[in-house]
Amino acid sequence: MKIIAIGRNYIEHAKELNNPLPKEPMFFMKPETAIIKNNKPFFYPDFSKDIHYETEVVLVINRVGKNIEPKFAHRYFDEIALGIDFTARDLQQECKAKGQPWEMAKAFDGSAPISQFVDKTKYDDLTNLNFSLEINDKLVQQGNTRDLIFPFETIISYVSKFVTLKIGDLIYTGTPAGVGPVKIGDRLVGKIEDSVFLDFYIK
Ligand code: MG
Repeated sequence: MKIIAIGRNYIEHAKELNNPLPKEPMFFMKPETAIIKNNKPFFYPDFSKDIHYETEVVLVINRVGKNIEPKFAHRYFDEIALGIDFTARDLQQECKAKGQPWEMAKAFDGSAPISQFVDKTKYDDLTNLNFSLEINDKLVQQGNTRDLIFPFETIISYVSKFVTLKIGDLIYTGTPAGVGPVKIGDRLVGKIEDSVFLDFYIK
C-alpha cells in the first residue's frame, strides 16, 4: 500500500505557511513504514528539532482505479479515518530553500499515525465534517471539510491520473490552520465530530 497526502488544501493553512493557493491539487507520498496504528507512541526523531502535527481526514481506497472521473470518485472509498501528517518543518524549510524535494521531511518512519477506519455512511454529509486535535487537553486545530479547497472527489480523480490507486491505499486530504510543534511527553487526542479517533503520546 501507499500513502498519498495532499498539501495546501485549506486556505487558512496555506496562508499560515506563506504558501500560494494551489490552482490544482498538490500531492506527495509517504511509504508504508510511515504508518503508526493502534495509538502506539510517536518517537521523536533525532534528525529534527521542529516536528509539526497536521491533522487530516483520511480516505481508505477500496478498489483499483486509474483516470477516475470525479462523478465516480465516491465509489472508490467506503471508509474514512483520522490521521496525523507529521512534518519535520525545519528539514522541509531547508529543502525548500535549496529548491530540493522535501520527501525526507514528510516520509520518515512513524510520520503517519492513523486511526481505526469507520464506514463513511456513519456520517450524513462528508462535506460538513468537523475534526480537531487537542494537545494536553488544549484545542490546537479545528477544521471542517467544507473548507477544503479541493473536495475528496477532485483529489481522487486528480491523483489517479498520475498514480494508480489500489485497495488499502490511504489519502491524507490536507490539514486546516493551526499546525504547530510537538514535544516529548505531549498527549495528542484527535476527534471526528465528538468521537475520539486518535489518542497517543510523543516519546
Ligand atoms: Mg499535510
